[in-house]
Amino acid sequence: MSWAATVLTVLPEMFPGPLGISLCGKALAEERWSLETVDIRKFATTRYGSVDDTPAGGGPGMVMRPDILGAAIDTVARDDRPLILMSPRGQRLTQARARELSQGPGAVLVCGRFEGVDERLIEARGLQEISIGDYVLSGGEIAAITLIDAVVRLLPGVLGAEASLEEESFEQDLLEYPQYTRPQTWEGREIPAVLASGHHKRIAEWRRAQSIEITKSRRPDLWDAHQRRAAGAATKQ
Ligand code: SAH
Repeated sequence: MSWAATVLTVLPEMFPGPLGISLCGKALAEERWSLETVDIRKFATTRYGSVDDTPAGGGPGMVMRPDILGAAIDTVARDDRPLILMSPRGQRLTQARARELSQGPGAVLVCGRFEGVDERLIEARGLQEISIGDYVLSGGEIAAITLIDAVVRLLPGVLGAEASLEEESFEQDLLEYPQYTRPQTWEGREIPAVLASGHHKRIAEWRRAQSIEITKSRRPDLWDAHQRRAAGAATKQ
């Protein structure tokens, strides 16, 4: 069984969108993962097909109704997949979370619109909330596309070299070392000599040192996490 994504949205025309091209699109065509969209508007009960209503207690915007969204969710065959609401209030999406999701059967992703969704639906259906970062998007679709893209490239066989994943940013809570390619000299700038040395051990050491420097200076929070992880690994031995 391939990794199965089901996306509930009022804008199914946004899918597969960018997920249908390049790496993810090729993997989709190869059936390494599957994508199904559920059009929430099909579950509307009014003539006008509205899925939202004004917020209880007043205030701006509109809120997605729990009965309509609930009916849409209830038609989905969950099959042990986590039920996730894309939400700026959610737990932050991380590489570790993407990896964890990639090792499971798939995900059912609910995309909010307007001011968000009725809280009772989140409670009643036990939705896990995931955020892609501390900013507000106009809807959950781009967030869902982001999550799926991060997961799909981790699925077996999607990226050519499995090794290229191990040294990537956020693995072991480090950012990646700088990368270079031809030409050897560009605008008077040379590729660091060690990379042309052919000395694998020295190259690995140089890359690791660069990784550490970049992480320390740009992301002290990640560097702390890396050190805690290293300390944890040491006490386990
Ligand atoms: N009023 C809400 C924001 C609603 S934005 C608040 O202040 O929290 C509309 C929808 O876009 C949300 O329901 C959610 O599904 C999606 N969304 C917006 N920002 C997001 C983010 N950072 N991560 C994931 N989903 C997001």
